[in-house]
Amino acid sequence: MLKDQDRIFTNIYGMHDRSLKGAMARGHWDGTAAILANGRDWIIEQVKASGLRGRGGAGFPTGLKWSFMPKQSDGRPAYLVINADESEPGTCKDREVMRHDPHTLIEGALIAGFAMGACAAYIYIRGEYVREKEALQAAIDECYDAGLIGKNACKSGYDFNVYLAHGAGAYICGEETALLESLEGKKGMPRMKPPFPAGSGLYGCPTTVNNVESIAVVPTILRRGADWYASFGRPNNTGVKLFAMSGHVNTPCVIEESMSISMKELIEKHGGGVRGGWSNLKAVIPGGASCPVIPAHLCEDAIMDYDGMRELQSSFGTACLIVMDQQTDIIKAIWRLSKFFKHESCGQCTPCREGTSWMMRVMDRLVRGEAEIEEIDMLFDVTKQVEGHTICALGDAAAWPIQGLIRHYREEIEDRIKARKTGRMGAMAAE
Ligand code: NAD
Ligand code: SF4
Repeated sequence: MLKDQDRIFTNIYGMHDRSLKGAMARGHWDGTAAILANGRDWIIEQVKASGLRGRGGAGFPTGLKWSFMPKQSDGRPAYLVINADESEPGTCKDREVMRHDPHTLIEGALIAGFAMGACAAYIYIRGEYVREKEALQAAIDECYDAGLIGKNACKSGYDFNVYLAHGAGAYICGEETALLESLEGKKGMPRMKPPFPAGSGLYGCPTTVNNVESIAVVPTILRRGADWYASFGRPNNTGVKLFAMSGHVNTPCVIEESMSISMKELIEKHGGGVRGGWSNLKAVIPGGASCPVIPAHLCEDAIMDYDGMRELQSSFGTACLIVMDQQTDIIKAIWRLSKFFKHESCGQCTPCREGTSWMMRVMDRLVRGEAEIEEIDMLFDVTKQVEGHTICALGDAAAWPIQGLIRHYREEIEDRIKARKTGRMGAMAAE
């Protein structure tokens, strides 16, 4: 279990003063000017050495992403964009950072922006996060007043502005290029990649888009050292991480823990255990709605990191677990996700627009047991036609939960179809 002194987020439960004074008393904004004085290359090398990977879900190495930004300006300004459009179902970790520990993010923005030669950071916050927006704006104002950002930020000779943009509640605006479109005042629709944002991002300028948590951990990594950070977790999966737990646990929570902690320890120590005990566990969605479900018998030894989840044919995603007990109608749970993805598809590319509708219609019938058994394989086949054939990851996100359902719960789906045919359909599934 992570020791208190190793926690980066010292106010994740809002027990302390979140203002600049309180944040400084807890060690934030300490020696920031000295960190900047080490120079851009040093910062990027340290972040690379720490092994930090993107905490928004995809896990792309953060230092490597920063190194894609041009070293010399070609006349275009460079930007840092912070993705605070946390919308993945079951995911609420960044919300706690912005609400209770906003200075970690602003200090991180300054350091990351400096390392990439950015003149400004845009924080794009999801529409529903109103209290978080207020907390962040108050913290940004405090930093301007104290000279920590703005002209000659931290007396470093470097000018850096931080702007807050409020989204309007569209899930797709969390996709980095749709987010850039939205920031530019256009409809939030993903762009084709490449070019990646480092080549052509906001207003066609070099841009890096990072998740809130990825940026907020950087000042502490640089203060305490890349080796310190890399000492947690296991190779390729280093560091500490915010985990969240919702669903059928006794104490839903957001908790900072070491990477590579076992799923069972996480749920039992921090989530208060599964409702009705571990033996009552049915399945876990490990990192947000797009991650394929993991059945209980595989959860026993599951390691919560990128490699551990990949070995179980799932993904680490946002590390926000949705825990489901034996009373859960798993077909209905995945049907609900299908409905979500169908609703949130921007409709720009055919496999996603048509595929999400088609998959949901079959799921509609599966959940009621009205499909034919042969349609299970057909549905799986359609998910494979959608996966990897779309402009952005939403197509994959819609396909993967269904693949997980069929992979692990085919028997349950078949039983429901057979029960319907023989008139033995249970009340819950029939509604
Ligand atoms: P991605 O793998 O396409 O990209 C990840 C990052 O790496 C991006 O910033 C991308 O620009 C960069 N990148 C990837 N390949 C690159 C290359 N060759 N050169 C330069 N840069 C490169 O994934 P994504 O579409 O950004 O994110 C998908 C993930 O987002 C999903 O796994 C899901 O878990 C997560 N997600 C999170 C939320 C949330 O609320 N936090 C919401 C939806 C989805
Ligand atoms: Fe839009 Fe879906 Fe295509 Fe993404 S995959 S661009 S959400 S239609």
